[in-house]
Amino acid sequence: MVFPLKYTMCCMNFILYFCENGDDMEALDQSNIKINNRKRIIRLLSKERELTKLDIARNLDISVPTVTTIVGELIEEGLVEEAGMAGSTGGRKPVIIRFLPDSRYSIGVDLGTDSVRAILTNLDSRIIVDKRKALKSREEANVLASIEVLVKEILKEQGINKEILLGVGFSLPGTVDEENLKLEMAANLKLKNLSFSSFKDLFEVPIYLENEANAGALAEWQLGIARDKRNVIYISITEGVGGGIIIDGKMYKGTAMRAGEIGHMTINKNGRQCNCGKKGCWETYASKKALINDYIENGGEATDNIKTIMDMLSKGDEKAAKVIEKYINDLAEGIQNLLFIFNPDNIVIGGDISSYPDIILGSLTDRIFEQNQFYSTGDVNIMFSALGEDANILGASLIPIFEAFAF
Ligand SMILES: [Zn+2]
Repeated sequence: MVFPLKYTMCCMNFILYFCENGDDMEALDQSNIKINNRKRIIRLLSKERELTKLDIARNLDISVPTVTTIVGELIEEGLVEEAGMAGSTGGRKPVIIRFLPDSRYSIGVDLGTDSVRAILTNLDSRIIVDKRKALKSREEANVLASIEVLVKEILKEQGINKEILLGVGFSLPGTVDEENLKLEMAANLKLKNLSFSSFKDLFEVPIYLENEANAGALAEWQLGIARDKRNVIYISITEGVGGGIIIDGKMYKGTAMRAGEIGHMTINKNGRQCNCGKKGCWETYASKKALINDYIENGGEATDNIKTIMDMLSKGDEKAAKVIEKYINDLAEGIQNLLFIFNPDNIVIGGDISSYPDIILGSLTDRIFEQNQFYSTGDVNIMFSALGEDANILGASLIPIFEAFAF
């Protein structure tokens, strides 16, 4: 929404009311407006790719001289370029300004239970390099060293320096302290209070930490299947189960950034023992690990992936069919709870399971709405992730871009 200038200034005056000196306040207002206009121009150009300065001015309700000044700065910084002349309706032909998606880069890192993955993306979130490294141990020093080696390898191979790297974003399987760059607790990794602050000096670019489900939600909401939707719950199903919550077009993180730990809501009071110390948490029934363990415990062949179970199902294996049916019931149980609490328009399920919509999605949707007095099938879209296993890491690499340009 484009607010009239007066309204924008009024809001900022309210926020900055504690400034004692009126001139300082005025200067701050002007600087904020300029930063905001710059972000809006970059965002518009990234979407439209090519526009004249007059197009930009009209589209964003900014004066042509202001657009000219900001575009001049963007050309100098290499983010956009002049790309020939547009047709004219009389008078001098206007210059076309073109967005350059490869002018800056971002790195996304996803920390898993047994490996670290890192990607390099451009401003369009196109993955340019994708590397993975097995974790020899989950000991803190080894985890940090593996990340350092992987990121340095990518930067060196691609010749990326700190001037064109916007930052490194991390997708982490636990609660994070964004401000102090700490992974507070990752129960499935058995890591506590792991500090990432050394990467600030190592890479000399901004470092951002995010919970993996929030990162996945960000990617699905900005690039994927829930693009531009207002109320979205993203369910990340990996070794555990996590949630990313978008309410009224904004991500909700809670007071201490711990919202969305939906995997630890109790669905069976005296149920299975969870890594968090409680019993009967949803993730002990609905995680990928739970599905695999159930299959093995029911006499299925030993495996570490769900593909084996899905393949067995397609061959008519009864053990696989029984385990998957139970899994779908347990998954539906938690999703029903989420519907009652949030009333979202979209629920997006991410993780390996989202590669099997034909097997899971129909039965899951039936189960969620069966005997449900509050909701019926058309009230909420139950969807599988469009970005699949890339969702969390793409979300991580989006954060530095978001921070720089509010894309
Ligand atoms: Zn738990």
